[in-house]
Amino acid sequence: MDHSVQFQNVSKSFGKTRVIEDLNFEIKKGERIILLGPSGCGKSTILRMISGLETISSGELYLNGELANDIDPGDRSIAMVFQNYALFPHMSVRDNIAYGLSINKVPKSEVAARVGDAISVLNLDGYEDRLPRELSGGQRQRVALARALVKRADFLLLDEPLSNLDAQLRGQARKELVSIHEMYHQTFIYVTHDQIEAMTIGQRIALLSEGNLQMLDTPDRVYRQPANIFVAKFIGSPSTNIIDIRYDAGRVHLADGQSFALSEAWVRQIEKSGVRNLVMGIRPEDVLLVTEAADQAPAVKVKIGYVEDYGNRIGYYFQSGSQEIVSIMPERVPGIDQQSYWQVLPAKLHFFDADTTQSIGYPEEY
Ligand code: ADP
Ligand code: MG
Repeated sequence: MDHSVQFQNVSKSFGKTRVIEDLNFEIKKGERIILLGPSGCGKSTILRMISGLETISSGELYLNGELANDIDPGDRSIAMVFQNYALFPHMSVRDNIAYGLSINKVPKSEVAARVGDAISVLNLDGYEDRLPRELSGGQRQRVALARALVKRADFLLLDEPLSNLDAQLRGQARKELVSIHEMYHQTFIYVTHDQIEAMTIGQRIALLSEGNLQMLDTPDRVYRQPANIFVAKFIGSPSTNIIDIRYDAGRVHLADGQSFALSEAWVRQIEKSGVRNLVMGIRPEDVLLVTEAADQAPAVKVKIGYVEDYGNRIGYYFQSGSQEIVSIMPERVPGIDQQSYWQVLPAKLHFFDADTTQSIGYPEEY
């Protein structure tokens, strides 16, 4: 059995409110998976169902191939780190880390070995005898992680463990988490609402919205081939431009009356999908602005309305009909305020069914 966690038609309600809707997915043994989505979408609830802290209203949860709905939390091989990890204030770093092992009657020598190991892996050497209040936020967070690591559980569940850290520490902690996983290879299930954490830590991302799984795939695929409009808009900042278009006989017609010819690959894909009512997506960083339209490439004339300088890149805003489109360029384009074209790169486009919001898929060559 390769799957370490398997949800089969799992739903969860609190009273009459259903918060998880018919969830089906599998987590591979030893993989690093991220549960990502806006606040309130059900991430913590899913994690708590895996840990056994929350019951399952209907459906089946399997852990290591075994039906786990009714297995006690204490009998699941699970370690958890929460956003608000509570350390024992009167205990030293060493005792905080060892506490769970000691009460579970792990032999003393084994406790010492595991604790020593965790202290060195998490760079807490020299801090063993300090109390939590004598540590920085980042160090306290590492103690909480060490306490989870020493359990050597099959599953390491982390619920927004970095959200109390400042941006610089978070960046550092992301790298540490990845290297710790590569050392211990536990099944690593990580909840966050932060897309950067998801993209950088995850081997796969499960993106959720209102209790429904929207997409489960590698960060690269989630970014490049979003399964629907929600995924396209959630990942990336600024958000993917979603543009009302009319598709007709191989051409895309924009709201302002301009049109351009699509590549043959896209025409074939659209024909194959049978979808006629389309919307087009394109990421801001893929909207290429130029001052001279190339002869061969499709391009439409645009008028830049607003410019934002982010220091390391420039945001250009323009209208297409009543819709605003943003382009993010690596640097200022001289002369762009006098004359500008949006040169459309077919491989960077996305098309969605306007009725279902689902992607119509991608041509193989893209
Ligand atoms: P997330 O972790 O994605 O922010 P949660 O899993 O905590 O979301 O919550 C999902 C939904 O379930 C929210 O609407 C929340 O209000 C609701 N919820 C969570 N726990 C309870 C509970 N014990 N009782 C009632 N509603 C709850
Ligand atoms: Mg939560």
